[in-house]
Amino acid sequence: MPSHTLLRVAVPSPLRRLFDYLPPARGPLPAPGQRLLVPFGNQQLVGVVVECTSQTDQAEAKLKAALASLDDTPLFDEQLLALARWAARYYQYPLGEVFSAALPAPLRAGEPATLPAQVRWQITVEGLGLPEGAPKGAKKQAQLLNLLRQGTRSPADIQAAGFSKSVLNALADKQLVQAIELAEPQTFDCPLGEPALALNPEQSAALQAINTTGYQVSLLDGVTGSGKTEVYLQAIAQQLAAGRQALVLVPEIGLTPQTVARFARRFKVPVGLMHSGVADGGRQQAWLRARAGLDRIVIGTRSAVFAPLKHPGIIIVDEEHDTSYKQQEGFRYSARDLAVFRAHQLQIPLVLGSATPSLESLANVSAGRYQHLRLRKQAASNQLARLEPVDIRNQALQEGLAGESIQQLKAALRRGEQALVFINRRGFAPLLMCHFCGWQAKCPRCDARMTLHHHPYHLHCHHCDHQRRVPNQCPDCKGSELQQIGAGTERTEALLNQLVPNTPVLRIDRDSTRSQKQLNAMLDQINTGEPCVLVGTQMLAKGHHFPRVSTVIILDADGGLFSPDFRATEKMAQLIVQVAGRAGREDLQGRVLLQSHHVEHPYLQLLLAKGYHGLAAQLLRERRLAELPPFSFMVLLRAESKRADNAQQFLQQARQQAEQLLPPSPQFRYLGPLPAAMEKRQDRFRFLLQLQAHSRAQLQQFLPPWIERLEALALSRRVRWAIDVDPQEAH
Ligand code: ADP
Ligand code: ZN
Ligand code: ZN
Repeated sequence: MPSHTLLRVAVPSPLRRLFDYLPPARGPLPAPGQRLLVPFGNQQLVGVVVECTSQTDQAEAKLKAALASLDDTPLFDEQLLALARWAARYYQYPLGEVFSAALPAPLRAGEPATLPAQVRWQITVEGLGLPEGAPKGAKKQAQLLNLLRQGTRSPADIQAAGFSKSVLNALADKQLVQAIELAEPQTFDCPLGEPALALNPEQSAALQAINTTGYQVSLLDGVTGSGKTEVYLQAIAQQLAAGRQALVLVPEIGLTPQTVARFARRFKVPVGLMHSGVADGGRQQAWLRARAGLDRIVIGTRSAVFAPLKHPGIIIVDEEHDTSYKQQEGFRYSARDLAVFRAHQLQIPLVLGSATPSLESLANVSAGRYQHLRLRKQAASNQLARLEPVDIRNQALQEGLAGESIQQLKAALRRGEQALVFINRRGFAPLLMCHFCGWQAKCPRCDARMTLHHHPYHLHCHHCDHQRRVPNQCPDCKGSELQQIGAGTERTEALLNQLVPNTPVLRIDRDSTRSQKQLNAMLDQINTGEPCVLVGTQMLAKGHHFPRVSTVIILDADGGLFSPDFRATEKMAQLIVQVAGRAGREDLQGRVLLQSHHVEHPYLQLLLAKGYHGLAAQLLRERRLAELPPFSFMVLLRAESKRADNAQQFLQQARQQAEQLLPPSPQFRYLGPLPAAMEKRQDRFRFLLQLQAHSRAQLQQFLPPWIERLEALALSRRVRWAIDVDPQEAH
């Protein structure tokens, strides 16, 4: 046993273990949470010290010294370290990779964790003493001086207000303004940039219930437009006033610039953004500013759940049902579930908000773990949109649109309102088929058909991104009649352009919004309030406010009724209700037309009669009977390989190993190996093995020894495999 101190280090590698190193030759002994540059094989990697120890099971002669310490003080405090360790254990993912996921790219690559000085410009006493309009003859300087009379401004603010460096320097030379360095603010007496709204009784009750000290999870369950965001804002205001920070998670910021703008408008405090639209450097700044306590509000997507907070006060997860909180590859964590751990660890309140809460969260309410706060009325308008079925059996449809839907859409436009057509499929047609021999355009790499796109004209696999030219004739029989079957957003757009030729038709899907600028331009046009028709995919269902949309048409509601995925109905209901929530938010009576071939289906009937919560209650009863999550716990072992039998055999062996450790029982069940819903994707054959347990603890205890055995299987190196804990897609 070595007498000196060793460093136990998490290194970003697929190996699920830690590595011991001797401290670097120079400098003080690094502490847990500090980054180190370490030799690893023939590479140099950035690792994180997890603990200092004097014991190792590595041979002492083989111990290598770390090359350098990258931080003077720990980058991860004790609590973030504990969060990362817990996440690595719970999701069975290497700790070093968890740290990598938690860090912005530059810090992951080993760049120094230093913040440039936070400079603000302030008017001096001399400046204040001058009359307005001074200095005479220098209009720009006078304007800037006026701006700074209202408060300090950052160099970026000054530039954004249209003042050049030379104007600023001229004022500085005259000692009318000065640069000050910003330290961490202690408290904010008045953090508000605009007054808060007077809350209605339901909102007040919710705010009061949230505003407790210590750990508590609140499910803020309020219909779209019921004022959930207003409740978040006021809960945050109280934390800010007490000198604490707020962490706000949102599904996809790019889609909801309005939400972010609302936070920035409401508060005078610095707000940090962490999402994929922010450049690496900006994300690093935001990360370090949050850690230093400078940014008092942090708004970010999934990975922001790891944002460091100097004075954590509250966590908010908006649209908690959104599946984007669960990462679907690599480190398959749920940011919502980690937020629960984190709030508990920090002993602070957590608010999960949604108009269509996940069944998991509703079950947690029933079990008494979360408090249920409901907002049943819209805050600013009178009624919720009405959901009406449109039976399309045996009806002549125009590119998927029923006659009644077209009438309603035209009527809305005539009244000067806007309409929205929801179709969850992009491109022109999902199938290109030969009329003579039945040939279909299929992806050569996947078990999937290729979608025909018109803008630009090509075939596209939506599963692996493979693209190819559209053939002029059938490759098999040389027939020349290729039929375009089914409708996507492009086809609906083309039809609407014919039906309402004098009204703008805006298509909003991934193809038409490749850049934020394109999306913003369309949102701006919608916000003018002029009549128009929006056609789009589920991008339209997320968080937007379209106050002038009165009529919503949902083209095909049936997808979720007959899917083998046990979550499909829940997801379908959420989508319908979220899309419906876009309608009728001002004083327009909204109507939502739900086109279906199965209007009598009990799930649709329940949704129409009792709303989302009626259906959710029924689905929960069924899940309980079927012992499906959230009434049991699921783990998938996914495997894929170029040769199908490799993946299948690996899973068979994995199952044998598992059954040796824990024989199957009603409390602990195995299913598989099964082919994945799409068996072949990107030239790989995909299979899965499903484990389902009554006890989460038992499942968690079982996983590490099982994975150790998996790693020892020869096939484990010939197939790609992954553990998916609490999978969102169980197929
Ligand atoms: P949600 O987040 O639940 O969709 P919002 O907070 O965005 O709801 O509120 C919807 C609309 O109602 C917004 O325009 C908001 O300004 C307004 N609003 C919210 N609360 C109130 C209130 N107490 N009084 C008046 N208007 C309100
Ligand atoms: Zn043919
Ligand atoms: Zn493909």
